[in-house]
Amino acid sequence: MIIGVTDDRLITSSLLMEDEPTEYSLRPRFLSEYIGQKNVKEHMKVYIQAAKLRGEALDHALLYGPPGLGKTTLAAIIANEMGGNLRITSGPAITHAGDLAALLSNLSEGDVLFIDEIHRLNANVEEILYPAMEDFAYDIIIGKGPSARSLRLDLPKFTLVGATTRMGLLTGPLRDRFGIKEQLELYAPEDLQEIVVRSAGILGIDITDDGAYEIASRSRGTPRVANRLLRRVRDFAQVKAGGVIDAETASAGLEMLRIDELGLDAVDRRMLEAMIVKFGGRPVGLDTIAAATGEDASTIEDVYEPYLLQLGFIARTPRGRILLPAAYSHMGYAPPESSVQTSFI
Ligand code: ADP
Repeated sequence: MIIGVTDDRLITSSLLMEDEPTEYSLRPRFLSEYIGQKNVKEHMKVYIQAAKLRGEALDHALLYGPPGLGKTTLAAIIANEMGGNLRITSGPAITHAGDLAALLSNLSEGDVLFIDEIHRLNANVEEILYPAMEDFAYDIIIGKGPSARSLRLDLPKFTLVGATTRMGLLTGPLRDRFGIKEQLELYAPEDLQEIVVRSAGILGIDITDDGAYEIASRSRGTPRVANRLLRRVRDFAQVKAGGVIDAETASAGLEMLRIDELGLDAVDRRMLEAMIVKFGGRPVGLDTIAAATGEDASTIEDVYEPYLLQLGFIARTPRGRILLPAAYSHMGYAPPESSVQTSFI
């Protein structure tokens, strides 16, 4: 969950205002309800069972991957499965050491502290986190200068769950203090279909399996996007198709929203078109793409690009982003010879 994002493209994986009313109710509460992410789920199941058998708090866990894939959901599941409470905060929200102290001192044994965007913690706060993670201790410095002394307070045994979209931006010492590190992947359409059917059940929406698949295949591998598109298509189905979402209605609704069969929107297409026509297939820097699309470079990198990379539409090279043949054919262009070769390097 990335908070306070202003960009409002319908296919963004960041949390939008319109998601908030249903985001909580659609969240699976137990590991058995968490769809997809087979490896992560299997690992977590073992870690949770082992911690429970030993009667200990779960090891600190670092979850990484693009927004909307279920990191917050997984943190809530860990708290539920371990019988603790979940406290949610984010790296940029903890500006002073005192903010973290307040959070830590309010925890009870077995609680989960979830820090979203943990790569954005400031260095002072991070230093305090080290003893808290390692020794469940909080060091307070009393006084100043030569007479200053440090007082160590014990903390309850809690689990820190950190989430990040950028593993590479985490400092080494912080990364090393997590015993569990799991990467969340974009979801396969079949998994997203299951998520759409489940969400439709909770929201009381009438949908066929084909209708769910149609939404799933345009949701960019992201449950949050799938749930959002489901709500939008529901409105369309109510007005135009007697309330039932089948494949035809889903497809017509999403076409109306200008989301194509692969889940690309007008901004994606504008970007691909610019890379083909304006830049002639040459490598393009991220900042140039940002200027051409009106998006922030880091938003492109975290939110939009992972899906285009997975589709095999673009690739990162030391000289910039290049388009691959699949992008040309999706946009109705013949790939240039050089691009065909580049893709096989
Ligand atoms: P992140 O923290 O990675 O940004 P969230 O945990 O907030 O993502 O997930 C966004 C929404 O997607 C949740 O409200 C939930 O409804 C749905 N979701 C995420 N992962 C799953 C899953 N594995 N199964 C079912 N729904 C999911």
